[in-house]
Amino acid sequence: MELSTESQLIHAGTERTPGAPFGPPLVPTSTYVSQGAPNPALPQYGRNTNVGWEALEDALAVLEGPGCHAVAFPSGQAASMATMAVLADGRPRVVMPDDCYYKTRDMAHRVRPGGAEIVTVDLLDYDAVAAALGAGPAVLWAETPANPLLRVADLARLAGIAGDANSLLVVDNTVATAFLQKPLDFGAVASVYSLTKSLSGHSDVLGGAFVTRSPQLADALRSWRSTSGAVLGPFEGWLALRGLRTLPLRLARQCENALAVAEFLDTHPRVASVHYPRTYDDPLVKSQLPHGAGGLLAFQLEGSVAEADAVVAAARLIVPSTSFGGIKSAWERRDRWAAETAPSTLIRLSAGIEPREDIIADLAQALRA
Ligand SMILES: *Cc1c(COP(=O)(O)O)cnc(C)c1O
Repeated sequence: MELSTESQLIHAGTERTPGAPFGPPLVPTSTYVSQGAPNPALPQYGRNTNVGWEALEDALAVLEGPGCHAVAFPSGQAASMATMAVLADGRPRVVMPDDCYYKTRDMAHRVRPGGAEIVTVDLLDYDAVAAALGAGPAVLWAETPANPLLRVADLARLAGIAGDANSLLVVDNTVATAFLQKPLDFGAVASVYSLTKSLSGHSDVLGGAFVTRSPQLADALRSWRSTSGAVLGPFEGWLALRGLRTLPLRLARQCENALAVAEFLDTHPRVASVHYPRTYDDPLVKSQLPHGAGGLLAFQLEGSVAEADAVVAAARLIVPSTSFGGIKSAWERRDRWAAETAPSTLIRLSAGIEPREDIIADLAQALRA
């Protein structure tokens, strides 16, 4: 019997033997009983493995598609850093978008994983991407839809450009998640995630992941994780898996809510522009994100920074906070972060799972502030 991704996600890590718990146990241990030559089939040390990570990784692999392997990390940042470090070994240049999540750019420039040269480009300027890759070998880092402007890049085209330059394409797929977009099917070698956002979905845990079809690459990432010590806590992994199981339900609602909010904002007199990828007016969005672009959108207000701050402060339901993808609607004026390069009156809104009428009513009253 061929089961849907949703069913596999709900049941991953569940034993069917009598008396078995319904979900994988939480195993808080730093080490395991062992002696003599280490048996590779048994766990030895908590920095190398935990049964809870394995259940989470199984679920993440299922979500990405058949034949995938996932490696969990303690944050999206840790997953990005491990990915760059492993892939930049022998590929001395990392080409990345100039508008991706600002901390990924910051990390790349400060850490220069593998000693790589970091080059930033407009990811939608495909000639500039090809020129930056040169003859390769290099790593092409994509983020689409990008945080916070939600620009959508053509993944098949980027994979082609990377292939021509003897380079590997990696996609930070945090905004859409693998439920809505499958980078590996467009030719990427790996997807990278912050589990902190929609994947865990309840704003109660930090986590990250690397997913690939290459068993060798997954092993290289596991080895890096063990050596670098960037390991997920057992309880964090348990929480992330608990949240992940309801991802399809939450995302379906968040896509509907985000689209309704975007359409409300489209015609609002105080709004200068709305950033949300719509499947119905862009063939590229439709081909890559056929079921919707997720719960994150952004809009630019007319007027001053103080006026934008007043709007954020006036919300009664939408929570003023950073991060996104949780069940509660949340927003912030993005440029309040010093290193962010977003327009100064851009407000990023994460649609939660509340009824859309409530979110839009709150938005309407806040926009009167
Ligand atoms: C939040 C985020 C990250 C970093 O994830 P953390 O879990 O906060 O470390 C990376 N990429 C994108 C697109 C993000 O939104």
